[in-house]
Amino acid sequence: MHKKEFQAETKRLLEIVINSIYTNKDIFLRELISNASDAIDKVYYRALTDDAITFNQEDFYITISADKENRQLIIKDTGIGMTQEELENNIGVIAKSGSLAFKQENELKDGYDIIGQFGVGFYAAFMVAEEITVISKAFGNEEAYRWVSKGTDGYSIEPCEKEHYGTDVILSLKPNADEEDYDQYLEEHTLRSLVKKYSDFIRYPIKMNVTRS
Ligand code: ADP
Ligand code: MG
Repeated sequence: MHKKEFQAETKRLLEIVINSIYTNKDIFLRELISNASDAIDKVYYRALTDDAITFNQEDFYITISADKENRQLIIKDTGIGMTQEELENNIGVIAKSGSLAFKQENELKDGYDIIGQFGVGFYAAFMVAEEITVISKAFGNEEAYRWVSKGTDGYSIEPCEKEHYGTDVILSLKPNADEEDYDQYLEEHTLRSLVKKYSDFIRYPIKMNVTRS
């Protein structure tokens, strides 16, 4: 496993994002769902432009799972996934948008569905999570990688097992504090209302899976 420190600029920017860009911590879910949708769009786009790739509509969906016992919220997609390099470059470097690069490389017009472009959305999840694990397997690759970070300190990355291509983002929620209720993000009704409020326009099915404790 190798451990990496964020660059000094990244650390400062990360603090700004976590503390001031977003005034409403609820929007972390919108950002993660948008990334999942972008990732699925990218597989679609590949399939459209490459006859060798076939896909079935029903293989593409997003799953939101809440594990109350472990206080984890997990957002999974069957999208394009990330290689080790992409995990380091796109998730490990703030303000670097793999989606913006994808749009530019593929000369996609602004009206195209891919939502991401600023390269900060992912970090919104640190408003509610004390630790984030990203397990990802890039489309067409054999190996998968696990990226783990507690926020400003840096991250570690190591090979792991994952059956299907795509990405699992696992949020270990912060402990509840006097004025902050993070347990709400494990409640099905809260999750459903956030999805309805902020992610109603997403074109892929969003499945919900909440385990009781
Ligand atoms: P943006 O979406 O504006 O590009 P983010 O901070 O939300 O910025 O994400 C940064 C980059 O990380 C994305 O552009 C994409 O390349 C990569 N990424 C994030 N989430 C996923 C995901 N679920 N699947 C594949 N790539 C992802
Ligand atoms: Mg994004």
